[in-house]
Amino acid sequence: MTEQAQYTPAELKAMRQVLVSGKMPECPRCLVHMTERLIGGGSFGLGYARKREWLICSKCHRSAIYDIKRGTRN
Ligand SMILES: [Zn+2]
Repeated sequence: MTEQAQYTPAELKAMRQVLVSGKMPECPRCLVHMTERLIGGGSFGLGYARKREWLICSKCHRSAIYDIKRGTRN
C-alpha cells in the first residue's frame, strides 16, 4: 500500500476520549502507544487555554490531531 491511511472518525473519537482522560491512547490498529508531539513552536505561557496535540503511531504512521482545552470552562 502506498496511500497514506487514515483513522476512521470512530477511531479518532475513541482515542480522543482516552486522551482527555489523561492517558496516552493506543493505535487501534497496532495496539501500540501513540507518540505525542506538541504543535506550536514551544512557546509556553502565552495564555493559551488550549493545547494542540499531535499523536502519531510509530508503527503504521497514522496520525491524529486534537485540540484539547484545558484549565478553563466556557
Ligand atoms: Zn498504528
